[in-house]
Amino acid sequence: QLADESVGLDQLLESPLHLAPEPSLPLPPDLYGPRRRNSHGLDLAVPAVRAQLEQAFAAASVPAIPGSAPEDVVPAVDRAVAAWPAWERRSAEDRALILRHAADAMEGELPRLCALLVKEGFKCWGDAVAEVREAVDFLRFYANEAERILQPATLPGPTGESNVLRLTGRGTWACISPWNFPLAIFTGQVAAALVTGNCVIAKPAEQTPGIAAEAVRLLHAAGVPHPVLQLLHGAGETVGAALVAEPRIAGVVFTGSTQVAKIIQRTLAAKDGPIVPLIAETGGINAMLVDSTALPEQVVDAVVQSAFRSAGQRCSALRLLVVHEAIADGVIRMLQGAAGELVAGDPSQWRTDVGPVIDGEAFANLQRHVRRLQAEAKPLLPESEPDEATRLLPPQAFEVAAVEQVRHEIFGPVLHVARWSGDPQAVIHAINRIGYGLTLGIQTRIDSRAEALAREARIGNVYVNRNMIGAVVGVQPFGGEGMSGTGPKAGGPNYLARFCAEQTVTINT
Ligand code: GLU
Repeated sequence: QLADESVGLDQLLESPLHLAPEPSLPLPPDLYGPRRRNSHGLDLAVPAVRAQLEQAFAAASVPAIPGSAPEDVVPAVDRAVAAWPAWERRSAEDRALILRHAADAMEGELPRLCALLVKEGFKCWGDAVAEVREAVDFLRFYANEAERILQPATLPGPTGESNVLRLTGRGTWACISPWNFPLAIFTGQVAAALVTGNCVIAKPAEQTPGIAAEAVRLLHAAGVPHPVLQLLHGAGETVGAALVAEPRIAGVVFTGSTQVAKIIQRTLAAKDGPIVPLIAETGGINAMLVDSTALPEQVVDAVVQSAFRSAGQRCSALRLLVVHEAIADGVIRMLQGAAGELVAGDPSQWRTDVGPVIDGEAFANLQRHVRRLQAEAKPLLPESEPDEATRLLPPQAFEVAAVEQVRHEIFGPVLHVARWSGDPQAVIHAINRIGYGLTLGIQTRIDSRAEALAREARIGNVYVNRNMIGAVVGVQPFGGEGMSGTGPKAGGPNYLARFCAEQTVTINT
């Protein structure tokens, strides 16, 4: 079974004293706030934890949520625009407190939310627990961050003059979020926009409307006024497009494909009036470079986690393993053994490691890609029958002749493997030339080499001698460059400022 990080559910729910050891802090401690640092996962091996989650699963039902129409956009923006001045005038502390209340409520409803993530989002239990935890972390981290950055700053100036810089909200943001992290990314986007004094109209992925509706319910109950946070459902091509094109939308935050990010960018550029900012977090063709000094067991564990966990449906997931010729045969053999142990199946079953892909369209796209690879590359794992009815695609791996052969992001449990020899910097340059820049794995026992390769990589998140998924809020700020996104990094100290306008007031005293 794929590992997960955790403590017991009963501890989590009943005693705030059972906190994990404090993580070491790469950022100033005040960013994390006095109460808690990161929230906790659960030990899914504990029978009582399993029992609670199973009970929640039996009780949970995926709500039928009707889609919105493009015509719903204008009245929603009318309401948001009317509500904005009062929301913007509230103090950062006030808005931060609302986020903290929502975090507590979300943590309190953890089993139910996990159950819904499994039922509606086809997550395995370990991923579901980690996702609720991440959503809670976003709420608390951005609450603390808002209190830090929204304080007006008095700047030094000549005598007889006062200069104050302050950050304010911009207006109404469109938050467009994906199905692969339907709670965490949804909550992160919305929380960031709200706490900085913006109204939000959120349009979650059409595959996972129920989870988004739950998050909104909790935020409303925690004190966000209804017109300040509104939800539209439906397809990106219709409802999402109408939302982005609405003239009064003051900013767009989007997580999804590079192609759609560019469509949004063009739509925003074509509108009359203000220049509207876009924050986009998109895909990646993420590579892991393994040199001849790497520990094969560690490599294989990291590869299995990074390529196949969440059925490879993470934008951070490993797509391209580039392994040194000297150890390639051994690593591939070990990988074959490890991948053969993985269980693809019903995500609600404890033994399942790889659940179904999200929908029939995703399944068909992956099938097409796998058929192409079967013709063009060398299969490394035994061929297994993908099952259209269950949308289960067992882990796949193919050896390709060169890094250059991988050109398109494949969003599923499909790994490409290439061999290298010679200069590792040349491999990094080849990876840079692909044009994405989200995550990179480096496996080497030579510290100076890891440092040098990381510096050379035009890539947002570099992971050395470990897996390359599951960035932790406030600890591993997450996001890419190039075709992988505009920045800033989610869960990092520079994120909230991009949701703000800045005003300098100079007074001649
Ligand atoms: N933040 C996630 C991770 O580090 C990936 C987010 C995504 O897939 O969009 O694995």
